[in-house]
Amino acid sequence: MTNYIVVTGGVLSSLGKGITSASVAALLRNSNLNVSMLKIDPYINVDPGTMSPLEHGEVFVTADGGETDLDLGHYERFINATLSKRNNFTTGQVYQTVIERERRGDYLGKTIQVVPHITDEIIRRIKMAGKDADTLVVELGGTVGDIEGLPFYEAIRQLKHQLKSRVFNIHVTLVPYIAVADELKTKPTQHSVQELRRIGIAPDMLVLRSEKPIPKEMKRKLSDACDVEPNSVIEAIDAKSIYEMPLKFYDDGLLKPIAKAFDLGDLKPDLREWKRLVKRILEPSKEVIIAFVGKYLELKESYKSLIEALIHAGAHNDARIKLKWIDSEAFESQDEREVLGGCDAVLVPGGFGSRGIEGKIKAIKYARENGTVFLGICLGLQLALIEFARNVLGINNAASQEFDKGTKEPIIYLIDEFIDQSGDRQIRTRQSPMGGTMRLGEYECNLKAGTLLAKAYGGVEKIYERHRHRYEANGRYREAFENAGLIVSGEAKGLIEAIELRDHPWFAAVQFHPEFTSRLQDPNRAILAFIENALKSKSSA
Ligand code: GLN
Repeated sequence: MTNYIVVTGGVLSSLGKGITSASVAALLRNSNLNVSMLKIDPYINVDPGTMSPLEHGEVFVTADGGETDLDLGHYERFINATLSKRNNFTTGQVYQTVIERERRGDYLGKTIQVVPHITDEIIRRIKMAGKDADTLVVELGGTVGDIEGLPFYEAIRQLKHQLKSRVFNIHVTLVPYIAVADELKTKPTQHSVQELRRIGIAPDMLVLRSEKPIPKEMKRKLSDACDVEPNSVIEAIDAKSIYEMPLKFYDDGLLKPIAKAFDLGDLKPDLREWKRLVKRILEPSKEVIIAFVGKYLELKESYKSLIEALIHAGAHNDARIKLKWIDSEAFESQDEREVLGGCDAVLVPGGFGSRGIEGKIKAIKYARENGTVFLGICLGLQLALIEFARNVLGINNAASQEFDKGTKEPIIYLIDEFIDQSGDRQIRTRQSPMGGTMRLGEYECNLKAGTLLAKAYGGVEKIYERHRHRYEANGRYREAFENAGLIVSGEAKGLIEAIELRDHPWFAAVQFHPEFTSRLQDPNRAILAFIENALKSKSSA
């Protein structure tokens, strides 16, 4: 019997509903409950895979190859668990399923309507996500009152009607601070709760996002006005680190009303390790400067998982990670020594399209030639190979078919052989509207003994990491690369998955995205080693 905690939001978006949901789940998880999470996105896209990173932030890839909302990344990082495609769905998916069924004739001539057909499908998907968990935390995207959200609120109303006390509704709102009056205002919250009640949902708890602590009388007032128990009015004050939130919520008594509603007794989460890590995020004794050479810098959310993974690695190294953002396009015409000189390490993340690639190649060349600690991810590996081919092997026109379709030297190319190959941990591809196919999700990678990467992963032979790319390194050049001092440190099914350089202190690049498997309590090993070595190079400098 699964309990459901449903988190809705009001007043405005970006209130931290995702972090609130993840924090609630983390507290339950650390209380030894089997918790899972679900994000519902009311937009029409079937998944965020086709959305621009500059519009929607990062696409988070699950182990089973789902392209999901970036909140799923927070969930995995907070609850230290692996989620699947089933843990995120959109209006697009709901309608797609219902329309497919209608075309098959499954509805036996009935008129298909939002209520009950769409709402039933929403409820079916919620229950499917909660199937194996004691508690499912469901986050409903958007804010109450949005037109596109209506069927989901109706579904949640029905879920509560069906399951009664096994559904607990949390409503996250804003309590704005008006500086000229020096006052916090409760009216928007009252209106938001009224809107929620109008569509049939009564909140069991309010989480109030605020710049300042909310006085007791004000909480009492909201408790009365919104018909919520006084101890269920919880504050969420702006924090320095998102990882502080579970601790703050716990101190504010968030677990008590939930434990009472679900009859769970006294919940005592073990937060010792979490506290220790948060302390190291807030007050580390060391510091390291990482040159982050990217192109989606207008929206840093595009690199969410990577930024968080660096924070995790920093926490485990007692070091603050200072990111120096370098726009790869602008960098093309800048002086590399001036820009990169003061940095302890260079990071080239993944990306799509040709804009800014020459700047990334320039940064890679600098790192290779100057012995600067380097990590290349996905596109970062592809460009590291192109840089090596051009500047070490002398193949001046070395290219990727992504940027130069007819190139004579396709160091990076499109492979077709794996398309349609199915089976366990085989290469999965999906037909994409962009005209290609993507390799998505978790694949095994065999590490070469004795390499930097094998060391980073503690000497194991096989690792599993997640992919999201269309192009691959071309094996035809492998021998020439190896003869010139490049080491293939990871491979799988004949594909080059990771490389490093023989004559360099720490230069590694990987075809997969290590950032997707990093959690606060269990940082990704490749990124951890990158930060360790950046710190080491700093102390030896
Ligand atoms: N654009 C490259 C590809 O599709 C790299 C993708 C990435 O960095 N995620 O293969």
